Amino acid sequence: MSKGKLIVISGASGVGKGTVLGIMMKKRKDLSFSVSATTRPPRPGEVDGVHYYFVSREQFQEMIAQGAFLEYDAHAANFYGTPRAQAEEKRAHGPVLLDIEPAGAKQVRQSVPDAELIFIMPPSMEELERRLRGRGDTPEDQIKLRMERAVWEMEQRFWYDHVVVNDDPERCAEEILSIIEE
Ligand code: 5GP
Repeated sequence: MSKGKLIVISGASGVGKGTVLGIMMKKRKDLSFSVSATTRPPRPGEVDGVHYYFVSREQFQEMIAQGAFLEYDAHAANFYGTPRAQAEEKRAHGPVLLDIEPAGAKQVRQSVPDAELIFIMPPSMEELERRLRGRGDTPEDQIKLRMERAVWEMEQRFWYDHVVVNDDPERCAEEILSIIEE
């Protein structure tokens, strides 16, 4: 059976990945989203099994031990990972989008060489911080951690296949879709 491509989307927290991915999936019904497991608590409005699988640290460790992750990493004091079986299952139906940070993206690049890696940049660091704060769902100590992490993440963009700027979510989604369709 032919397999859909894995499309990895990375970008600093607050860059607007969720919005861009949402627009892409509305436009291309064959795209599916890989739901990650995380130990971070749900934000208001986040639904278990839709945005993430919210698990305990013990459950996460158990999944690591079972080899259940295609990739995983610690980010801002929490664990995040891509369940391997789910990604494989979804690939049978078309391309699968992975919203993961660069350390995880590097693991995917090694284990799935034909994965397409796309990095989303904010128009500026000031705009990133403004968006992160404006979301109103991230505690101040987490904002500081995430901005520090953002600097490191943006340095990683050079080994991605494509870099796009999210100056406007609709335009950014169109650009990524045209990359995928190439
Ligand atoms: P958030 O807590 O804001 O939802 O996500 C924080 C970061 O974790 C984001 O950069 C997101 O891309 C990344 N992330 C989400 N799921 C995964 C995953 O399964 N694996 C890895 N490596 N990173 C993830």
